[in-house]
Amino acid sequence: MDLKSIYKSQNALLEGHFLLSSGKHSQFYLQSAKVLEDPTVAQQLAQELASQIKKANIEIDTVCSPALGGILAGYELARALGVRFIFTERVEKIMTLRRGFEVSKDEKIIICEDIITTGGSALEASAVVEKLGAKVVAYSALANRGFCKAKNSDNAQKPECKLPTDIPFFAIDSIEFEMYEAQNCPLCKDGSQAIKPGSRGN
Ligand code: ZN
Repeated sequence: MDLKSIYKSQNALLEGHFLLSSGKHSQFYLQSAKVLEDPTVAQQLAQELASQIKKANIEIDTVCSPALGGILAGYELARALGVRFIFTERVEKIMTLRRGFEVSKDEKIIICEDIITTGGSALEASAVVEKLGAKVVAYSALANRGFCKAKNSDNAQKPECKLPTDIPFFAIDSIEFEMYEAQNCPLCKDGSQAIKPGSRGN
């Protein structure tokens, strides 16, 4: 599956000058919500991800996603795996489990994001369910930004990746592009200003 082409065809691979949540700048931005606005595409992506996970023979009770970005991908993955779905969310910046969601002791959970960059939010979601006694058996994302090592890729894990190396990470494919520290950004040097994705209607 050529994930980058799918993002392109759904107008979800944005080109411009972006300020990413990490503080870095980039010429590109992946807007997963645009890919997932078509439920048929969302279902196809989730089935592809689920087939990789099934091949690995990992027992899973529940998919858990950090809100907001991971919810659609996680929900579709749960449907494809035939398991339940819950999500964590930030309350005053602290990741929490709300809305009556519960996890039981030793419940086997896969964390699902739309995109894994360094895995920060995924790790926070994982800490929340593990504190309640569940066991995180895998991480997953539609797209891997190339910092973490996905099970089907030969990439080495980069130091920025926060995911544990002893738990498998599944992603459909890698979509990698350059990111710059603000002071070294060639786009800034050309005189344009980085914008936060979403702030101008995208
Ligand atoms: Zn810049």
